[in-house]
Amino acid sequence: MTKPTKLTFINGKPTLAPYDQIERKDNDRTYNQSRDVNQTKYVKFYHSTLWTHKRETIKQRDLDLCQRCGMELELVDHIVPSKDDWEDRLSDDNLQGLCNACHQLKTKREWIKHHKGANRYMTINIVCGLPGSGKSTYVYKHRTEHDLIYDYDSLMQSLTGLPSHVKNFDVHDYIVLFFEQMLRKLKSEQTFDNVWIIQTYPDERIDSLLSPYHHVNHILIDVDKQTCIDRLNNDKRLNSSLISVFNEFETKNFTNFKRVTE
Ligand SMILES: [Zn+2]
Repeated sequence: MTKPTKLTFINGKPTLAPYDQIERKDNDRTYNQSRDVNQTKYVKFYHSTLWTHKRETIKQRDLDLCQRCGMELELVDHIVPSKDDWEDRLSDDNLQGLCNACHQLKTKREWIKHHKGANRYMTINIVCGLPGSGKSTYVYKHRTEHDLIYDYDSLMQSLTGLPSHVKNFDVHDYIVLFFEQMLRKLKSEQTFDNVWIIQTYPDERIDSLLSPYHHVNHILIDVDKQTCIDRLNNDKRLNSSLISVFNEFETKNFTNFKRVTE
């Protein structure tokens, strides 16, 4: 005959154990102790005056509105959770006002990502090349179903509504802001299968930001200058500002790049 069982808490989890087994107290004590040590840091932080003041500043900055849906702000949230990025817990860029409903949605998404993320491997591909070399074409050919594509030129175009060669410096600032937030989020997540960053020149800043966290591929679309100029001419995309881009490009170092021809 099997021994009768009882429902008890072992390591803080409800478990069925033989009715005569006595381990609950010791186990619970160890569990509670380790939980207390881990949580003290967070509890202390959320009760600190530093945080209370910061929360008020963010509420004012966000005009008491939820930054996702525009309803009344109910809490101040860490965009990258403080447990993932303790250093950034007081940085304005990492804080946003939310309503409870939006916060719950965000937390749920984060939970799914963290649990799926363990089996996921996200690759970051930095794709460089001259204007007209076919960077976007290359990316669109190689992207998969669940990718993120950052393309400066097409963002500029969709945010200004102007042809792609027209650059507006005020809009540039907004695109950079978006890019920085995007990198910040990517640092802590494995959301995508591939991330494609399309840019003309290499940018070491991105590498140093991302490389400790992710595998980064460097791809150079290796097409000679004349071919690019001919293509741009044909598409009526060649203009004087591109000449300086061509000259600047020749001074760049592409030694760690894999060269592909399109
Ligand atoms: Zn909301």
